[in-house]
Amino acid sequence: MADFPADSIPDAKPSSTLERERANSPDALYDVLVIGAGPTGLACAIEVQKAGFKVVAVDKGCICNSLFHYPSHMTFFTTPELLEIGNIPFPSPNPKPTRNEALQYYRLVAAHYKLDVRQYERVESVAGADGHFMVHTEDRFGRRGQLKTRKLIVSTGYYDLPNLMHIPGENLSKVHHYYNDPHPYFDTDVMVIGGKNSAAIAALELWRSGARVTLVHRHEAMHRHVKYWIKPDIENRIKNGEIKACFHTEVVEIAEDSVVLKTPHGLQTVKNDFVFAMTGYHPDFSFLQSMGVRFEGPDKLPVCNPQTLESNVPGIFLAGVIVAGSRTNEIFIENGRFHGGQIARALLAQN
Ligand SMILES: Cc1cc2nc3c(=O)[nH]c(=O)nc-3n(C[C@H](O)[C@H](O)[C@H](O)COP(=O)(O)OP(=O)(O)OC[C@H]3O[C@@H](n4cnc5c(N)ncnc54)[C@H](O)[C@@H]3O)c2cc1C
Repeated sequence: MADFPADSIPDAKPSSTLERERANSPDALYDVLVIGAGPTGLACAIEVQKAGFKVVAVDKGCICNSLFHYPSHMTFFTTPELLEIGNIPFPSPNPKPTRNEALQYYRLVAAHYKLDVRQYERVESVAGADGHFMVHTEDRFGRRGQLKTRKLIVSTGYYDLPNLMHIPGENLSKVHHYYNDPHPYFDTDVMVIGGKNSAAIAALELWRSGARVTLVHRHEAMHRHVKYWIKPDIENRIKNGEIKACFHTEVVEIAEDSVVLKTPHGLQTVKNDFVFAMTGYHPDFSFLQSMGVRFEGPDKLPVCNPQTLESNVPGIFLAGVIVAGSRTNEIFIENGRFHGGQIARALLAQN
């Protein structure tokens, strides 16, 4: 069995209280502050720290907060080695790791590198300019704080803001934009809206847990990008009539006990208890805009140098899925994890 060098064994202990207190002093000036401690933000913090910069990462939730809110029993689409960051192996007994394994892996990597991650602190606003940014935060009790930094990396992802349908009834408590667990929906009428992986997975899990599932999608069939091991499963359930599918159909209104559909044959009212609108998510463009980041084109691509990832605002770098604007299916963990290296090299070149 291979021996691991002592410093490559993940250490689950967080940084000491003393270090944290010193860093918390109002005068502490960081070289780099990373907003968002998802896989990309962590990869950025690691690479920048390895390059010799003093770095802090701030997240409004826990480490990898978006992954924490993914479906409880989800399996990634990617093999473990493509999710690795910081050159730390991701051991998994499964060909595709689970959400639980990924959460544990990223947590251990953060601990191994002794990253200074401030969890449960939302960045509210950023003031100042390159070399002297002031980052205003608010914790979960509404307490405000501020951190000073020379440079900023924004890796805030896209999972906080669902694409709304803007239809009557969308704000009813029975309508969910996040699917988590199928168990509460046994013996109920559930509608799943969407035609991609998330919709297919939710529909299948809900049906397997005893819900009566209707899948509604505005196009003629499930999306061609549905993974090759999921597509036949959902298509066969539909063919067998186990999951009812309404293609070329849109939901136009949601009421307490029903949903109104616009079908090729006219309006139809369907009995319904719960709705899962798996209609995608988008980055917080207004947050980026508040820092002066500009966007281009219908996909709202943020203006940034593709080599350095520095945005049109000097000193503000973008990383992860937000770099692709609303084309959220172009950057994921697999490729976003390399943004940290790009930014670290750019920072070294600027120094
Ligand atoms: C169900 C599902 C399955 C997926 N499977 C795969 C897969 O198999 N392989 C793959 O490569 N990708 C997969 N993806 C996509 C992948 O998870 C995302 O692309 C990836 O998480 C993006 O990483 P990120 O670090 O850019 O953003 P995120 O992981 O979303 O991290 C952003 C972080 O920023 C924090 N944040 C946001 N705003 C603020 C603020 N104002 N202040 C402080 N913190 C803030 C959030 O809390 C969050 O922790 C999947 C996505 C979903 C939804």
